[in-house]
Amino acid sequence: MQHLDPDRLVLLAFSDSPADDEAVHLSECAGCRAEIDALKHVTELGSETQELRDLPPPPDRVWTGIAAEVAKAEAAPAPVVDLTAVRRSGRRRMPRWAGPVVSAAAAAVLAVAGTVTVIRWMDRPAAPDVTASATLEPLKGVPDTARGDARVLSGAALEVDVRNLPLTPGHYEIWLIDPEDITKMQAIGAVPQGTDAVQLPIPPGTDLNRYRLVDVSAEPNDGNSAHSGNSLLRGTLTS
Ligand SMILES: [Zn+2]
Repeated sequence: MQHLDPDRLVLLAFSDSPADDEAVHLSECAGCRAEIDALKHVTELGSETQELRDLPPPPDRVWTGIAAEVAKAEAAPAPVVDLTAVRRSGRRRMPRWAGPVVSAAAAAVLAVAGTVTVIRWMDRPAAPDVTASATLEPLKGVPDTARGDARVLSGAALEVDVRNLPLTPGHYEIWLIDPEDITKMQAIGAVPQGTDAVQLPIPPGTDLNRYRLVDVSAEPNDGNSAHSGNSLLRGTLTS
């Protein structure tokens, strides 16, 4: 799915109304909506410094877009306004500094959010213990660019990253399976369309020495909670 440009996300978070095609995308893409919400949250928190440390960092591609916007603004020559020319022409012209003003807004977000990131980085609790991990490989019939990684965090949560999964009309589901008896499995949770990474709690009491095969399946949204049989990626957890 083609996401909205990061600089559009910034403007939409500030003031702009989405164009028709953008509104259609936003209605379908939880990822872009979440990023706009996160950016709005950043601007709202600009004056509430006590809360800054609770702010989640914006997603990387938003950062990349803001950084690019700021770099562009810095590279552009400072706007020169020829007042005599303006007076002579006797009419208002589209201000040439409209672009830099927008960039300044992006820079303000960057400054506020940058502070937040630094605070978070200094404040960050120790990285969670990765107690096991697995490389997820595509199964037969799945495009061989499809990939994933799974990590067990402190034995309590499963973090899964997926890339290049074939599109599905439903959703992707993460399972832990007993490789000795693959009818024994535990549904861990869904990866919503448009999402690349999820962190899901592992049900307490799950024996990870037994349920060590990580499986990512395509599931139709048919209300049937059983495995569809359409596995896309698999990998075995090792400590
Ligand atoms: Zn999107």
